[in-house]
Amino acid sequence: MMEEGVTEEARLCFYPFLSAASNYVEALGVTLDDLITAATFERARLRGKERVREAIREGTVRKPVIMSTAQAEMELLSYPFARILVSCIGNAHLVRRYALSEAKSAYNKLLEDSSTGSSAGTDIIYEMAQEFDIQVDFSRLSHMEHAPVQMPFVDYLRFTSNLRDKRWKLVNRGLEKGQVNLRKGEFLRVIQEAIYARISKDLPLDVPGVLCESIRKYTRDIEAELEERRKKFGDSGFETSTGFLVKDPSCFPPCITAILSNLKDGVNVPHTARFAVTAFLLNLGLTVDEIIEIYKNSPDFDEERTRYQVVHIAGAQGSTKYTAPSCSTMRTYGNCVDNDDVCEKVNHPLSYYKRRLKLKQKQKKEQQDKPKEKVEGEK
Ligand code: SF4
Repeated sequence: MMEEGVTEEARLCFYPFLSAASNYVEALGVTLDDLITAATFERARLRGKERVREAIREGTVRKPVIMSTAQAEMELLSYPFARILVSCIGNAHLVRRYALSEAKSAYNKLLEDSSTGSSAGTDIIYEMAQEFDIQVDFSRLSHMEHAPVQMPFVDYLRFTSNLRDKRWKLVNRGLEKGQVNLRKGEFLRVIQEAIYARISKDLPLDVPGVLCESIRKYTRDIEAELEERRKKFGDSGFETSTGFLVKDPSCFPPCITAILSNLKDGVNVPHTARFAVTAFLLNLGLTVDEIIEIYKNSPDFDEERTRYQVVHIAGAQGSTKYTAPSCSTMRTYGNCVDNDDVCEKVNHPLSYYKRRLKLKQKQKKEQQDKPKEKVEGEK
């Protein structure tokens, strides 16, 4: 059981990007020096490191069960420490993945909290709206995910510029007297965007080198994990929670690598590019589930819709089985990027892949043959 009176701290530690959470941390009087060096805060530092590792491995940050005020405070303090860690490592992919993982986890927690039917559930939604300065009409708000919410279209536009799915386009929403109609679940999704923007702001922080050096023991482990994954999944390096290894990502054409890299970083990718990468990977033999895993990082990920689209492209419902678009189609939609010398010899991304794979195998064989020739020559 949680200690009496711990509720506020617990609530704040689940949403550590809130102004109230920063104020709480400030009121604790913990200095940066304390957070980095004091033995009392080792628990917060280790949890900060875990936050980053969870983001790398799972794409989410766990919300633990809070049993005491002390634990809630350590959880709260682990957030600024995690921000320092990713800033010291200075890897742009990691920074984006970390920010997106924190935002997604907060969104999931919001969904959970707001569906309990308790007043705390609705309070947190009001608080989020206030925090991000959104004048929302909550008059018909309930614990139901479909409960209607209205928000001013200027605020709506402010936070949805990265959501490319056509259902987010203003023309596809009901607009009444400058207010956009949303379901509660959709409003929370918009809030996730606001949270992501808040968390990403100022990241990476400008942390002095000497300070980064003093926390090497924490960053070293994270860097080792990043390196291990890079080796395992290749330079274009994307991995899924099921841990599948893509055929040979080092031979993917630059257009596909660029799309995958954007998906990995949680950048929104246009439909034509999603179609291209999905068809390409299906043609290579990846399963529907493996491809859905890749999309999980996408900011507007919706498992049901994604599955429907991937299955449709795969042709498992009796529809056409698509092949990946040719280079000329890729060019038409602006998806042909970073082309290299191999591109000049092909007219299809799949041909590029086959050619690069052959070249790689040939080079490998030459390498293997080299020492043999030398030994024979010496005889
Ligand atoms: S030329 Fe073809 S394979 Fe190369 S980047 Fe463009 S679309 Fe991809």
